[in-house]
Amino acid sequence: VRHVVYWMRMRDMRIEDNRALALASELVQQGGKGSHLIVLHVLSPGDFAAHDRSPRRIDFVLRTLAKLREQLAELDIPLYVTSHNERKKIPHRVLELCNSWGVSDITGNIEHEVDELWRDIATVQQGPKAGVHPHFVEDTYVVPPGAVKTNDGRPYSVFSPWNRRWTEHLSKHPELLDESPLPERNDASIRKDSKLGKLFEQEVPEAVPGFECEDREYMHKLWPAGSDAARRVLELFIGGKKGQMDFEADATGVDQPMTDDGAKDSKIAAYGTARNILSEHGTSRLSPYLSAGVISARACLRASRDVTKGKLQIGRDSGPAMWGVEVAFRDFYGHVLSAWPRVCMSRAYLLKYEDVKWEYDDEKLKAWMAGRTGYPIVDAAQRQGAKQGYMHNRGRMIVAMFLTKHLMQDWRLGEAYFMRSFIDGDFASNNGGWQWSASTGTDPQPYFRIFAPLSQSEKSDPQGEYIRHWVPELRHVKGNAVHAPYERLSKAEFEKLGYPKPIVDHKQARERALRRFKNPGEE
Ligand code: FAD
Repeated sequence: VRHVVYWMRMRDMRIEDNRALALASELVQQGGKGSHLIVLHVLSPGDFAAHDRSPRRIDFVLRTLAKLREQLAELDIPLYVTSHNERKKIPHRVLELCNSWGVSDITGNIEHEVDELWRDIATVQQGPKAGVHPHFVEDTYVVPPGAVKTNDGRPYSVFSPWNRRWTEHLSKHPELLDESPLPERNDASIRKDSKLGKLFEQEVPEAVPGFECEDREYMHKLWPAGSDAARRVLELFIGGKKGQMDFEADATGVDQPMTDDGAKDSKIAAYGTARNILSEHGTSRLSPYLSAGVISARACLRASRDVTKGKLQIGRDSGPAMWGVEVAFRDFYGHVLSAWPRVCMSRAYLLKYEDVKWEYDDEKLKAWMAGRTGYPIVDAAQRQGAKQGYMHNRGRMIVAMFLTKHLMQDWRLGEAYFMRSFIDGDFASNNGGWQWSASTGTDPQPYFRIFAPLSQSEKSDPQGEYIRHWVPELRHVKGNAVHAPYERLSKAEFEKLGYPKPIVDHKQARERALRRFKNPGEE
């Protein structure tokens, strides 16, 4: 008899195509009759606080767990959810539970962030002493971090050559995209087991104290939990008709029209151009599901491969190929984090910019957070983020660059703000995106890449619909004045709007940023 625990974390929250869960099930089968599989999840408020977890993300985790509990129970597999505040003692607590259930093996999907890695190393070290064999496998990233190297064996720091190698690696190892089998049903005798049977009685809590989600109802509508919802969001992107964004529609877009099979006007076919237009439903909006692992990145690439007749495309040739590049970006930032763990410790990837002089101006930071900078495109994106716990990628780049280059605020403040408010907070992608925008990261372009908010606005929201939706003060502003009302309206017209004037001058701010980056440490 071999009881096995699969330890589910916050980013592999699914039953389908889950490497560690499939492995756990295999081990149970090897144990023979009477062996059982248990799924364990540990909620740790101490860990959430240490890692800036947002109440929305925690609420999403709880909702996902509630769905999983039902799905697993149908397979006679219990999901046991426990809470443990002291994060450094989590491995000890997990092994204690394993012992109390007579478990011989534990499986988990590797998490590459430094604290998480230490936690798993502790489990690997302490497990055998406690009589529990640990098995940690790669699942989060399509290609395991460390597998893509330069000819002389070093990690890549620039995306494009990395992406070429990553694509080559994937074509040599197509099995990396294979779907893991579903876990086998437990022997029904588990329900009668005096210890293990009780695990089915335990409910998933509705909230974690200190992390209550204040806009639960809206979040539930916008981002329904569970793998059915995730699959529907994916289907909508692959087969849904391209078109205007209904800004308030839930991610599953129940009412949105679908195309005929293989039609050219699907969202994924249009992704190459639509992905940068803020007013279009041009991207998948899968990030909350991918960040929590409700769906695997492999499943996304398989779906994209199906669109291109069974041959995976990564590159610039088509919508599916461009989308593949973005999914690859998720891997890239995971690989960067694994190769340069200092980025997990609030350090700049480019050490030469560690001394750049930041402003630490609270008023400016607050204006940015509230979406009251007087730059409509920045404010619209910030308000979308605050309301929906999600922001369009182009918006994220614009606001991040504005905070760091125009307001000269430390990128770490923006990074933490996103983590604390977004539902899709993912350390590697968020840190990677912030450091890219702040020019302290892996962007091969030097620090003089500074987005001009006005031209970004005119390019990514040509009709101003995104701005008018998110900034109601500007709803009735006609024509292209919506992009720069202070400059393009008369003084009297502008004053009637109740909208702030720009808190910083683009030209001066740009010069200051160039100066500070040219001579880190100087004024
Ligand atoms: P799609 O365009 O449909 O892309 C599909 C998937 O590919 C995404 O869901 C995501 O998993 C991945 N992806 C796409 N673009 C990127 C990218 N640039 N970097 C890494 N992965 C990418 N993404 C997060 O998931 N969590 C974060 O916390 C996060 N923080 C960010 C912070 C900044 C400053 C920036 C510039 C980007 C950040 N991103 C983050 C990346 C990106 O903005 C989001 O993944 C994307 O907006 C999600 O929308 P989507 O699912 O419709 O994307």
